[in-house]
Amino acid sequence: MNHNSQPTQDLRKYASEKASRFTESVIREMSRIATAHKAINLAQGFPDFPASDEIKEAAVKAILENHNQYAITWGTKSLRDAIAKKNKRDYNLDIDPEKQITVCCGSTEGMVATLLATINPGDEVIIFQPFYENYGPDAILCGATPKYVQLHPPTFSFNQEELIAAFSERTRAIIINTPNNPTGKVFNREELDLIAKLCIQYDVLAITDEIYEHIIYDEIKHIPLSTLPGMADRTITINSISKTYSVTGWRIGYVIASPEISQSIRKMHDFLTVGAAAPLQEAAAHAMGFAATYYEKLVDFYSHRRDFMLKELAAIGFECIRPDGAYYIMADIASFGWKNDIDFARYLAEKVGVAVVPGSSFYQENANDKHRFIRFCFCKQLATLEAAVERLQKLR
Ligand code: PLP
Repeated sequence: MNHNSQPTQDLRKYASEKASRFTESVIREMSRIATAHKAINLAQGFPDFPASDEIKEAAVKAILENHNQYAITWGTKSLRDAIAKKNKRDYNLDIDPEKQITVCCGSTEGMVATLLATINPGDEVIIFQPFYENYGPDAILCGATPKYVQLHPPTFSFNQEELIAAFSERTRAIIINTPNNPTGKVFNREELDLIAKLCIQYDVLAITDEIYEHIIYDEIKHIPLSTLPGMADRTITINSISKTYSVTGWRIGYVIASPEISQSIRKMHDFLTVGAAAPLQEAAAHAMGFAATYYEKLVDFYSHRRDFMLKELAAIGFECIRPDGAYYIMADIASFGWKNDIDFARYLAEKVGVAVVPGSSFYQENANDKHRFIRFCFCKQLATLEAAVERLQKLR
């Protein structure tokens, strides 16, 4: 077809009903605006420093050793074994690598495959809000009806009564993300106990995104939901190597679930993508064996950056919420007199030269607090953060 002969809007009718119900990712859009305006990108959560030589060398070695064809659809044996071993070491969990692990193209695909495998159109899925923006479109893709439960600033705790009220006979699953993006909240034992109790009472699946498990501060401990009594079979744990090993572009994630649920997830995964990159799975398997010092250094590295940004942003006039985990800071924009976070974020990217994510992209329509925050990400070199702070000082 001659593209020049057709006005663009004529072709919009070909968008499916589902495709029409969500917009492109605001986070990725902000990354593009950052590039267009040469702004420092504190929007999208990817490191601007190199991954460790060891993981890169493992990938090169795997390619040279000819791990270049399709791997088993649910993941190479080496990676599944390494995931099981790491979970035993870190959390004393017994996971059968043959039946309970599905390696996916990032946790992003892991989440979509899981929801497609377990949710029927019309089922209700509880989502804490603010939420990692993919969960909204993910729910639409599988036809779920999202039920949002507010995480209330400044601690981003939920109100127990509000959570209890969200559960009903129609609830199929609840999505939890701990440590949490964008809030930095780490769900504590008492909160997880209540979630577990409600899941058991209403026979609900818990889908838990734990990709920031190793990015957690001040001696706070990550508690995998699947370790709680009665939760092993009904928890589906989504994880990834993107954040822990600073390789967001490799697209290697994984889902841990009961053998029965894994069967459905593996089918979805197979027909969505066939499989994740074979040589990178070998390198991921190698990285999973890194010594404890690797993870300790990761925490030190990000703690330092978190404390630097909290101090500097406060001095500029942002009211920041201190994250206990992940690598983002939610900052209240009230003191700058902007009513709308999107306008403020555009102004920051275009005029100040720093790209952030407007907080509203983590909320559904009409939510309280929707326009109150912007999100800074600090998984960057110190020099990048210092340069961003210098630009932001204009706001004083
Ligand atoms: N889940 C959360 C909470 C995230 O913050 C991100 C990325 O920022 C993802 C999932 C995507 O991870 P992956 O690179 O494994 O697809």
